[in-house]
Amino acid sequence: MDLRDSTEEQQFRAEVRSFVAAELPDDIRRKVLGFLRVEREDYVRWQRILARRGWGAPGWPVAHGGCGWNAVQRNIFDEECFGAGAPRQMPFGLSMIAPVLMKYGTPEQQRRFLPRIVTMDDWWCQGYSEPGAGSDLASLKTKAERVGSNYVVTGQKIWTSFAQWANWMFALVRTASDGKPQRGISLLLIPMDAKGITVRPIKTLDGGFDVNEVFLDAVEVPAENLVGTENDGWTLAKYLLGHERTTIAGLGMCKRLLRRLKEVARAQVKRGRALIDDPRFRDKVAAIEIEVLAHEWALARLISLEQAGRGLGAEPSMLKIRGSQIQADIGELLMECAGPFAVPYVEAAMELAYDGPVAGSIELNPLAGVYLDLRKVAIYGGTNEIQRSLIGKSLVGV
Ligand SMILES: Cc1cc2nc3c(=O)[nH]c(=O)nc-3n(C[C@H](O)[C@H](O)[C@H](O)COP(=O)(O)OP(=O)(O)OC[C@H]3O[C@@H](n4cnc5c(N)ncnc54)[C@H](O)[C@@H]3O)c2cc1C
Repeated sequence: MDLRDSTEEQQFRAEVRSFVAAELPDDIRRKVLGFLRVEREDYVRWQRILARRGWGAPGWPVAHGGCGWNAVQRNIFDEECFGAGAPRQMPFGLSMIAPVLMKYGTPEQQRRFLPRIVTMDDWWCQGYSEPGAGSDLASLKTKAERVGSNYVVTGQKIWTSFAQWANWMFALVRTASDGKPQRGISLLLIPMDAKGITVRPIKTLDGGFDVNEVFLDAVEVPAENLVGTENDGWTLAKYLLGHERTTIAGLGMCKRLLRRLKEVARAQVKRGRALIDDPRFRDKVAAIEIEVLAHEWALARLISLEQAGRGLGAEPSMLKIRGSQIQADIGELLMECAGPFAVPYVEAAMELAYDGPVAGSIELNPLAGVYLDLRKVAIYGGTNEIQRSLIGKSLVGV
C-alpha cells in the first residue's frame, strides 16, 4: 500500500492549488485564516466560484452534476482548499441531504433541489436534535400529522447550525408513536419561511451565534416534501449520518490550525525570543505535528481501504475522535501563545474592516474564542463518547 500521491494525483493537486490561489478572494482568505467572522455571503461567493469551475460538488457522481472524484481526489481537494484559507463548503446541503435525495428522493425532488445545492441558491440546515433527543435521537418528539395534502408540524429543534441563514431545513419528525421509537420517524423538507417557524439564536461560549433553537408551531408542509416512505425516516437518518461521520475527520482543519499555530508562535516574542524558539513550547508543537501526521496517514489508510472496496467499520469513529482531539489541543496551544492577551476580547475586532484598539495584537484577539469554539467538535456529528461505544461494538462486539 503506497500512500503517497501518484503522478496523476500530484498533477491534480497542482491544478487545484493554482486554481484556489488565483480565484479565492483575498478578503475571504484573510477572514478565514485570521479566525475572523465569515458571513453567509462569503460562503455563497466561494461556493459559486467553485460551481462555475465545475467543482461545486466534489463528492457527487457526474450524473447529478458532481465531479465524480474518487476519495483520494476529494481529499486532495479538501486539503488544498483548507490550506489556502477557503471557507469550508457547507455540508448540510452538499454532503448530508443531497446523498439522501440521490438515493431516496423522487426524480422531482432531485430536479428541484440538487442543482440549487451546488450553486447555493438554497442554504440547508439540519433539524435532527431536540431538547431531550441528541445522542438518543430516536426519542424525538416533534410531531407531523397528515391533514389533507399537508403535514402539520409542531415541536422544537435545537442546536440547528446556521438556521438563521437557511431557507430549507431537513427535519426528522414523528409521524407515528406506536411500536419501537425508531419506527414512526419521517424525513421532511421544510421551507424556513413557512408560517409558524421561529428561529431563536443561541450564543455560544466563543461569543458566536451559529446555533439556534427552531420552534415549529402548526407549520404546514406539503406532503410532497416527504423524502422516502412515511415512518421509515430512521433508515434515511442513519444513511445521512454515515455521510456526516466520514467528512468529520477534519484533517484539512488540523493542518490549517497547525500552520497558524506556527505563524502565531513565530510572531510572539517572549523574554527576547520568538515563542517558537522556546524549547518547551517547541516540544509541544512538535508533539502535535506528529499527531497530525499520524492522523493524515490514518486517513490515507482508510481511503485506501475504501478504494479497495472494503466496507468501513469503526474507522470513521476513530478518525472523528482523533481529529476533534487534535483540533482542541491546537486550540489550547494557540491560546497559550496569546497568554494574558487571550482574555481581553474585542468583539468588533472580529470584523475584517476593524482598525481600532485591541490588547496585544489583532492576531491574538480571536484566539480564546477559537479555543472555546473547538470544544464543539467533540460533540457534534455524534459525541466522542458515542463514537467510542460504536468502536467498542464493532471491535469487541459489546
Ligand atoms: C456546535 C454544534 C452544532 C450542532 N449542529 C447541529 C445541527 O445543525 N443539527 C442538529 O440536529 N444537531 C446539531 N447539534 C447537536 C448535536 O448533534 C448534539 O449536541 C449531540 O448529538 C449530543 O446531544 P445532546 O447535546 O442532546 O447531549 P446528550 O445526548 O444529552 O449527551 C450529554 C452527554 O452524555 C453523553 N452520553 C449520552 N448518551 C450516552 C451513551 N449512551 N453512552 C455514553 N455517553 C453518553 C454524551 O456523550 C454527552 O457527553 C450541534 C451541536 C453542536 C455543539
